[in-house]
Amino acid sequence: MNIEIVTIGTELLLGFTVDTNSAFAGRILAVQGVRVVRRTSVLDDPVAIDAAVREALARTGAVLTTGGLGPTRDDITKKTVADLFGVPLEFQEPLWQSLVERYRRRGMTPVASNRSQAEVPRGATVLTNPWGSAPGLWMEGPLGLVVMLPGVPREMEHLLEDEVVPRLVARAGARVVRSRVVRTVAIGESVLAERLGDIEAAVAPLTLAYLPGVTGVDLRVTAWDLEPAEADRRLVAAVDLLKARAGAHAFGEDAADLAEVLLNALRAAGATLAVAESCTGGLLGARITAIPGSSAVFQGGVIAYDDQVKIRDLAVPADLIARHGAVSEEVARAMARGARQRFGTDAAISITGIAGPGGGTDEKPVGTVWIALSERDHEDAVRHVLLGERDEIRERAAQRGLYLLWRRVI
Ligand code: AMP
Ligand code: MG
Repeated sequence: MNIEIVTIGTELLLGFTVDTNSAFAGRILAVQGVRVVRRTSVLDDPVAIDAAVREALARTGAVLTTGGLGPTRDDITKKTVADLFGVPLEFQEPLWQSLVERYRRRGMTPVASNRSQAEVPRGATVLTNPWGSAPGLWMEGPLGLVVMLPGVPREMEHLLEDEVVPRLVARAGARVVRSRVVRTVAIGESVLAERLGDIEAAVAPLTLAYLPGVTGVDLRVTAWDLEPAEADRRLVAAVDLLKARAGAHAFGEDAADLAEVLLNALRAAGATLAVAESCTGGLLGARITAIPGSSAVFQGGVIAYDDQVKIRDLAVPADLIARHGAVSEEVARAMARGARQRFGTDAAISITGIAGPGGGTDEKPVGTVWIALSERDHEDAVRHVLLGERDEIRERAAQRGLYLLWRRVI
């Protein structure tokens, strides 16, 4: 089954809002065998909306719209599509009552303009929206199928998955497009490609994409136009093969987070962790504490940005900094040791580096980062020259910090 997406909202064309709805819908629908063949974004303008929906219906016969279902004057999707289908809007008392009840639970009463949200094009099916005040609408007629969803991403995503996908799947063919991802860290795209060898032939007819990002290179393998069971079987085999060839650099699948993978391993080992951060300014701690349950492992950390803080709070000897500089192997090691002793943990990770844009020298260019690991009977330190601008360097450094300990754990 083919479908087109029309996203509605002047903010999308002005560039103030990025059209994440199309991306989400494309991803979700392909997995279920519904192919998005075209995306259009239009202004909150009846002529533009009418033309976009009319043309999409003529081409493809099925359209998913997002946006323009709210109570304000610029929300005109419903009226425009009703006009296109030649049907009136009808006020539905039960829908209005459920809206009133929704407001009442929050100690509020709806205003007059909210009444428009209880108007439904004649013959349309209401897709109940428990996450917001604008319901979705499913309309079929001689022109084809139009599914209208609200623009707010969270509402649109819930409605798509819970109400739209099951209805579409009922009419879609038996073939799907599905992807899986193997996430890698601390290895560049080209070196990774060498390691994987002639992987394309090995996973065919599945396709493989290298997707480099600040936390590492993702390997996305995609099955096109296969029966669901066949697609899943081949994807599992491909993921296993990719992980085997990527070795220790492959830390997880799909949405895996290295911080979570590391914390799980440390928790299983009954080990505790602390951090000492200079150029990452708390990013490493933030990555770790973003994981629910991290308190079982993570004790705390010191943001030792200034040299005096490294000396005072991490017991880094002043002469070490004077002799080697704050961005050095010696200082990184002393920071990690200091954090481990201060917090009484089994392990500590430290990061000290030059995030730029200033502060680089020939010997220590911008991106130079020393990362150290301290355990009671083990110590390690690595130097990286990381690529990118300040924010990328900081994010890459935090990921490398996690990797240094994870490599040791496995
Ligand atoms: P609307 O349903 O048109 O009232 O949209 C409500 C809000 O949803 C807008 O203010 C945007 O912030 C957001 N939004 C609308 N369309 C999109 C889209 N295609 N992608 C991401 N966000 C969107
Ligand atoms: Mg809008």
